[in-house]
Amino acid sequence: MKLHEYQAKDILGKSGIRIPNGQLITTAEQITKVTKIINGPPWVIKAQVHAGGRGKGGGVRVAHYPYEVVTAAEDILGKRLVTPQTGKNGVAVNQVLIEEGVEIDREYYLSMIVDRSTAKPTMIFSPAGGMEIEEVAQESPELILKQHVDPEAGWMPYQGRNLVYKLDPPLSPAPARQLMAVMANIYRIFVTLDCSLVEINPLAITKEGKVMALDAKITIDDNALFRQKELLQLDDPKEKDPLESMAEKYRLNYIRLDGNIGAMVNGAGLAMATMDVIKLAGAEPANFLDVGGGASEEMITKGVEIILKDRRVKAILINIFGGILRCDVLARGVVAAAKKTNIRLPLIVRLEGTNVKEGRKILRDSELKFLVAKDLAEAAELVAKQISRKG
Ligand code: GDP
Ligand code: MN
Repeated sequence: MKLHEYQAKDILGKSGIRIPNGQLITTAEQITKVTKIINGPPWVIKAQVHAGGRGKGGGVRVAHYPYEVVTAAEDILGKRLVTPQTGKNGVAVNQVLIEEGVEIDREYYLSMIVDRSTAKPTMIFSPAGGMEIEEVAQESPELILKQHVDPEAGWMPYQGRNLVYKLDPPLSPAPARQLMAVMANIYRIFVTLDCSLVEINPLAITKEGKVMALDAKITIDDNALFRQKELLQLDDPKEKDPLESMAEKYRLNYIRLDGNIGAMVNGAGLAMATMDVIKLAGAEPANFLDVGGGASEEMITKGVEIILKDRRVKAILINIFGGILRCDVLARGVVAAAKKTNIRLPLIVRLEGTNVKEGRKILRDSELKFLVAKDLAEAAELVAKQISRKG
């Protein structure tokens, strides 16, 4: 679960990290009042969306006069914002954060993540702040410093010194101490809130020598949400793909992709193999959909409905290896969905496993037109053929 910048900053602020004063607005009427409450000029106007790279997309503006705050905020609020991370359609901006602008002396990058290769919480620090960290990693990897943390011992003060004392030119003692305190703080936040990411970019040293978080990103591990119930109220469903939200409701594992072949599969491994085979046949999957091992007829029906709601889909491939999920249950779910939604798209089915005969019979006896494939390779070829026939 991703948090908005203003929510993440609120968490950082409460832990003692310095953040700019700011006010969240959701309607145009609120804008004019803000310049009276928030110190400025300058003011910084920031779109609150889950995508990064807002600066590059015009979602972060600096204003020097109150009327500029109004123009900038009106320009952003209620519009769609396109950044390098959103895709060309962009995302809707429903909330804008207006903050006091600060004078930046230096910008750093600081984050906590889990490093998968060492399976350890890891602090990443870079003097090349304010830029996309992926670019820094590619172009000047020597500017990225890391400290792996032993979760038993926690974050140790010497690890902070390891990072901060590498800075060249060095920091004077007061900001260096603040920087190390911020490191200890974000480690504590990372662990206590079950985060998969805590990122501050830029972490600024202001002209007055104060360390301040100018941007913040926090992602909570979804698997820990059962014990982070207070955080659930920070969830913003508007930021999610509507089909992904619908899938979540029915406990279907659905991820939207860029192609036009809808796929429904049971088991994540089989789903990934199916994506590969679709690509090998020269087509592109529109989604990843794993209905799981114990899917009910209703879940299958919902799965098909979700695929059909995606207008880009030109053909559907159902690839089921019946184990715990029996082929007859699958077939009944597909037939029910077909009745409900009046499928006109080519439907390619590959069934194997438990109750496969019953499953095939149910499909045959229905009025559904579908193509049965004897194996996965043939299924993918049939799908690709359907697409090319349609042009
Ligand atoms: P992002 O592009 O989505 O990561 O948005 P950021 O919040 O990081 O803003 C982009 C850039 O705007 C930052 O890297 C800063 O350089 C700049 N910025 C943000 N807040 C301030 C501020 O208070 N003062 C100044 N001068 N620049 C700011
Ligand atoms: Mn940023």
